[in-house]
Amino acid sequence: MNNDALAKMKALASEPDAIDRAVEYVTRQLRIFAKERDRILICFPNEPGSLGHIVHRAVEEVGAVPVHLGEDLRWSSLLRTAFLNKTTAIFASPLVILGLNKLSKFTKTPLYIRHALMAGHPTFDWLLDGLSRGMDCQTWGYFDLGGKDIICGQSCGASLGVHIRYEEYDVEIVDEDGNVLPDGQIGKICVIPKADPTVRVRMHDLARIDRSPCPCGRPAPRLMDIREGGDTDMDTLKIAAELYQWDSVLDVCVRRGEYGLELDLVVFPGLMLPKLPNCAKMVVRNWDPENDVPFWFMPMWKYSALSAKRIDNF
Ligand SMILES: [Zn+2]
Repeated sequence: MNNDALAKMKALASEPDAIDRAVEYVTRQLRIFAKERDRILICFPNEPGSLGHIVHRAVEEVGAVPVHLGEDLRWSSLLRTAFLNKTTAIFASPLVILGLNKLSKFTKTPLYIRHALMAGHPTFDWLLDGLSRGMDCQTWGYFDLGGKDIICGQSCGASLGVHIRYEEYDVEIVDEDGNVLPDGQIGKICVIPKADPTVRVRMHDLARIDRSPCPCGRPAPRLMDIREGGDTDMDTLKIAAELYQWDSVLDVCVRRGEYGLELDLVVFPGLMLPKLPNCAKMVVRNWDPENDVPFWFMPMWKYSALSAKRIDNF
């Protein structure tokens, strides 16, 4: 039933008018900080209607220049693209931005990124704090329907939480049975398009609603404390979160295999490593600039033939 709702939501959001409105919405956010000729790196696919494409159009709308990674998604290519373009903002998943930050420190490659725009998990507080401290940049978050390319809200920069895109969507917090919970209570996020309120998409993520006035002046309610919900493996998430906090750890993949935890770790040589958990299978290897691609890119975009597409050396 939820899948039907998602399909309907996707259909509503894919209409050309709806996409134009999404571009307008993102443009308003970008105007806060983006200047003409700023180069903004977009690390999402650029297919029409997708998040990456909507941000691409918004970047052009403010007179800035969108820069895409192309097919070479290696960490080394990401760093080189950000450096050579003097990128001032980046739109990516939080883990990709965090890795880029570590990479720039390890390789002593200076970056000029002042604004980190994020979509996707995880949005842990330490991660956002680490990003703003490590890169001296302001963080902005988009709220999307879990990889469904539908922008349902964004942060405002003046407070925590994410404003609902109130012109288009309503939001409720519900319990396991779908009953609406009072404001302030943590529960599952349920997004409802105003164009068709019979469509209700219940997300796996949890949050609470805050309707108190925001310092930015926007009247839209905010989703606070967004976190991954019930069917997520919290143990693997916790392990990954701890490992990511180390400067020596570029990338982590923790999964549960047939015989227990499996861990794949990409590290920087010469830096102190964290204490590693007991695993059924563990691979710890040094960053390979020739080949390594952020794990985050892999499951979603299935760039399996990536090494064949390598275009140069770093
Ligand atoms: Zn606000």
